[in-house]
Amino acid sequence: MNTAIPQAADNAPASLIDRVLTYNPTLDQDKIARAYEFAALMHAQQLRESGEPYITHPYAVAGILAEMKLDPASIMTALLHDTVEDTKATLDEVKTKFGAEVASLVDGVSKLTRIEVQTVEGKQAENFRKLVLAMSEDIRVLLVKLADRLHNMRTIENTKPEKQRRIARETLDIYAPLAERIGVNTIKEELEDLSFAVLHPEARESITTRLSFLRSEEKSTVQDIITKLRTDMKEAGIEAQVTGREKTRYSIWKKMQRKNVSFEQLSDIIAFRIVVSNVAECYHALGILHSRYPVVPGRFKDYISTPKLNGYRSIHTTVIGPSNQRIEAQIRTHEMHEEADLGVAAHWGYKEGKSPGQMADVKQFRWLRELLDIISQEQRPEDIMENTKLELFQDMVFCFTPKGDLVELPSGATPIDFAYAIHSGVGDRCVGAKINGRIAPLNSTLHNGDQVDIQTSKTGTPNPTWERFVVTGKARSHIRRYIKQQQRDEYLQLGRALLQKIFRQEDTDFTDKATIPALKFYRAETVDDLFVMIGMGHLVARDVYKHLFPTNQMRQSGSGKALSDDQDALSAMVESAQKKKNDKPLPIIGLIPGMAVHYARCCHPVPGDRIVGIVTTGKGVTIHTIECDTLESFADTPERWLDVSWGENNEKANRVSRVNVTIFNRQGALGAVTNIVAKHNGNITNFKITNRTPDFWDLYVDVEVNDVNHLNSIIAALRASQHVSDADRATG
Ligand code: MN
Repeated sequence: MNTAIPQAADNAPASLIDRVLTYNPTLDQDKIARAYEFAALMHAQQLRESGEPYITHPYAVAGILAEMKLDPASIMTALLHDTVEDTKATLDEVKTKFGAEVASLVDGVSKLTRIEVQTVEGKQAENFRKLVLAMSEDIRVLLVKLADRLHNMRTIENTKPEKQRRIARETLDIYAPLAERIGVNTIKEELEDLSFAVLHPEARESITTRLSFLRSEEKSTVQDIITKLRTDMKEAGIEAQVTGREKTRYSIWKKMQRKNVSFEQLSDIIAFRIVVSNVAECYHALGILHSRYPVVPGRFKDYISTPKLNGYRSIHTTVIGPSNQRIEAQIRTHEMHEEADLGVAAHWGYKEGKSPGQMADVKQFRWLRELLDIISQEQRPEDIMENTKLELFQDMVFCFTPKGDLVELPSGATPIDFAYAIHSGVGDRCVGAKINGRIAPLNSTLHNGDQVDIQTSKTGTPNPTWERFVVTGKARSHIRRYIKQQQRDEYLQLGRALLQKIFRQEDTDFTDKATIPALKFYRAETVDDLFVMIGMGHLVARDVYKHLFPTNQMRQSGSGKALSDDQDALSAMVESAQKKKNDKPLPIIGLIPGMAVHYARCCHPVPGDRIVGIVTTGKGVTIHTIECDTLESFADTPERWLDVSWGENNEKANRVSRVNVTIFNRQGALGAVTNIVAKHNGNITNFKITNRTPDFWDLYVDVEVNDVNHLNSIIAALRASQHVSDADRATG
């Protein structure tokens, strides 16, 4: 991994192609050459901070991936990875020239580059890592991104010092751990070392000095140990490669930080590796070590029977070695050895090299997908994996506030969920949202990396319809609480009005205080509670009056009259409401203030429709269209009808209405319906096929529209389509 990457020159693509050919003899060389030429052309006017032509960067990134023996699509993606984001090249162009697979990989890398400009504070690093993982739907996207970061770190000396530190910090916080999690150890170690050099140059320097001292001191010891271990293995009939591997400066420094120790022992700086042919030999070799040398307790780890989550397998043990030194040994097979360095990439390269046709091998993708799922979890290897937990992460989206803070939400989350996640006050006052700078409906589905700007208003209140599309418990519970409170207010007003009316009939002055003597008897804690009980119909107002003034002769008596009293009280409230004309404009004119409004699901009224309200005591008012079939069932109770109309501020009301459509049963008919609705700026929120015959399908489509004219234009367009037999508005 540390070998120098040749500078891009006239023979640049040829040299890259040669390297890919060594592990992939059936390579389509022309494709790589064309990708290089296209990238070189697009970046022609650009220079790197070093002053070199920009193409040297993507070329070097491709070289890193070639060392990892990655497939041709990854190599091409590396060459093209900055074209869409940094040049006038478009994704469509990339797709036309290099195919859908490469285009989708380039798109994935570009998306990661776009979110990269967000600043990430320390505590957000974990979320950011999850975001990067979630966005790297194809593991190759992440591998290209890591190689990109690696080359930028290798050339960081050309960057301004403050920027160097920021990038190095981010590399340590985000990219090195990601490389570790997918097991690409070589990249992880180099990223750490390069960041270490930027952030703590003195510490790194002193460790370097100390290391070279220990190295010269212990040189013969290390060689002796290797020779002795080789002999041990040979005597046992095991063919083994034994090497000593120096630990990295960053890992030594981290250990010094963590344990507050200096390093002087051999086991602090060298790990011995015993590489054998198969798993049985691993355990055999372990047996030899443990029988010939004293074992240091607590250091034995079997990552073969229980691999690390990033796939790492090896046996680790520490013994008191031949020269009475602690020695740390790692025992593994050749295959495990390669995996330990390259992680996911080892599998990818292997399989590709052996049989290029396996590219489309679904099993391989599933394996990678599963790995991604596993490594995205913050679980320890001992933990048992539960499917639900895996799904939990897949079901997450990560979005940004305008300030760049990350908000983690379940997938399917909307701006309302986002608003409540920030603060319940923001949710309660939410009136609109911008997604990536553009105004978007509040029921829009958020995507990874979206920047969401919630607009609030002091007079904003939760809308009961939000409950239909929010996905977070927090949003739902706040909306419900609000609705409950709203209903309680409504009962309270109704209850007070009913009682007030009885008082008036009996020529008694009404005050809230006058009802206090009844509280205990009715087990109400407060006067408001008493009103609510009356409003909900648990108590009859007349009975309460009687209890308060038992000696008064009532003008009307019998609770059989109570219902008509209720109706009178209702109309009284309507009158007074209309007189007051209200301080806040209601979407519907003619309602009782504080009373919950529902839109009937049978007829789905939209602005512009002639409408009527139906009062249900304790539930509020339901708005129907005047044509709605359901109204027939209220024909006998005219006192429940409220005369209402749409307010003026309803232009952007975006109400959902239902259209029944009959289509011919043939290919493309369903698509035609959705296209027509979309073309007319209707937003389909739901649809269902209700009946199928050999010739026709019946379905309904729920469409979000501005008003009745908008709805009618969509219905007219549907009727005009050759695929549609009939289209009509649902009327109950
Ligand atoms: Mn780049």
